[in-house]
Amino acid sequence: VPELPEVETLCRQLREVVAGEKILAAKTLDAKLGGLENLAGRTMRAPFRTGKGLNLPLDNKQTLRLHLRMSGRLLWQKEPVDLPHSRWLLTFKQGRLVLIDPRRFATLTLQTGAVPLPAGADPLGEFPSLCLRKSAEKRKLPVKSFLLDQRAVAGIGNIYACEILYHAAINPRRATGDLTGPEWQKIGQAAREILTKAIACRGTSISDWRDLYGQPGEYQHCLQVYGREGERCFRCGGPVVRLKLSGRGTYFCSACQQ
Ligand SMILES: [Zn+2]
Repeated sequence: VPELPEVETLCRQLREVVAGEKILAAKTLDAKLGGLENLAGRTMRAPFRTGKGLNLPLDNKQTLRLHLRMSGRLLWQKEPVDLPHSRWLLTFKQGRLVLIDPRRFATLTLQTGAVPLPAGADPLGEFPSLCLRKSAEKRKLPVKSFLLDQRAVAGIGNIYACEILYHAAINPRRATGDLTGPEWQKIGQAAREILTKAIACRGTSISDWRDLYGQPGEYQHCLQVYGREGERCFRCGGPVVRLKLSGRGTYFCSACQQ
């Protein structure tokens, strides 16, 4: 599932290839998306991210808003090659953009006017203070579940939530209402460091994530706890354990995450 670093990676790569370019043709291959054909002749402005959402602004104050959901990905093709599970095509002079989505959960909408900001705090923005405020409303929620709640925090998924709490040395079961200001500062700083590095690595390719050019990311080589159940903690040598928290596999060191 694409999280903040993967969507940000796509955004940055899209700016390299489509910003300022004219759309020659748009084609919807999956009727479930519907109603987005009339884009030919529009010029694409610089794409940007809101939470896990990808925004492709046009020169007429409209914005194409894409959410990749479970299995959606965007692929840039210099030479057109028809691939299975293609749902939507946008053709430019130098190549075309293809939405590939085997499970068909991705959504594409055309927004007129300003794009609304997500409800949750952006971990690369004003993270600790906003989270402190929102956590007061959810005092008993485990901090890991809080980080995954998109209404509280925008863009973090299961892998990065585990890694952020490990980096901050905080137990994922701690209730948000019990965390102190300095602990939120640690979480905020860990989130910024980990997500920034993951963007530089073009995301985490554990299953099917690929970037705009079809290449896997590199952050899977940097993971400290995710997927390491039963192995030794790199920091203290204690055991990495896995438990289910709000239905999601949660990895942490039972010795040094307090
Ligand atoms: Zn440890």
